[in-house]
Amino acid sequence: MRTDATAAGVSAAEVRELTRAYPSGAGVVQALRGVDLAVPHGTMIALMGPSGSGKTTLLRCLAGLDVPTGGVVRVAGQDLARLNEDARAILRRDHLGMVFQSFELIPYLTAAQNVELPARLGGRTPSAARTAYVLEAVGLGDRAGHFPEQLSGGQQQRVAVARALYLDPALILADEPTGALDSVAARWVLGLLREAVDRQGRTVLMVTHDPLAASYADRVLFLSDGQIVDGLDRPNLDAVSERLGLLEALTAARMERAA
Ligand code: ADP
Ligand code: MG
Repeated sequence: MRTDATAAGVSAAEVRELTRAYPSGAGVVQALRGVDLAVPHGTMIALMGPSGSGKTTLLRCLAGLDVPTGGVVRVAGQDLARLNEDARAILRRDHLGMVFQSFELIPYLTAAQNVELPARLGGRTPSAARTAYVLEAVGLGDRAGHFPEQLSGGQQQRVAVARALYLDPALILADEPTGALDSVAARWVLGLLREAVDRQGRTVLMVTHDPLAASYADRVLFLSDGQIVDGLDRPNLDAVSERLGLLEALTAARMERAA
């Protein structure tokens, strides 16, 4: 079910002045300190930044899995704060596909059953044709009956991508999708995400540590200590590596000052 959110001018996802603080001992950890971000339809955005800079928190807020302390999150034009938990779950099911570093496949389900899981959880009857199509699309047409442990890491992540694509989501959120893969498997997964944007008009927001992965994106955003501090359009490997080096040096200097 697609709403009018794909109409021109509405971002696939958007956050305004987003903050998230977590209680920590006697104080608080400011995971996000006023993030503004618009993810245009039909683009692939990479999000980079040091460990602990708030990348996962941002994705979780966008997915409605975490509740911000302040600011606005809009997905498919809908303000998540105005939706109750059930409505957020429906929005997640109908508009979002998620891919994680650790694949998050169910070990006792076959590749086909894993791919069909979002449909089943949403109370829908999966279609054998759709299952065959998405597995074929990720190059695993002949592995439908295999269990995760019978597949390589790269193949497992391709199953996870097929699962994310199954219900035809407008927006795919990927948290370090290639973090556990060798470079050949990583390139395959990145190619699939890129194709989802270029051929199917989907939108991808991908957290990554890897400049090569980021170079597949249309734009790279750099997060540091809960704020977006830099951006790079049409990134190539060298430019991303250079900016990342700069960001890491700045972060190290700031931590030294704070210590
Ligand atoms: P990243 O994904 O960039 O490594 P995270 O978004 O996971 O960073 O974390 C950002 C900050 O928020 C870190 O300081 C982390 O320790 C803190 N944090 C994240 N989740 C929680 C939580 N559930 N409870 C308390 N602190 C958290
Ligand atoms: Mg993270």
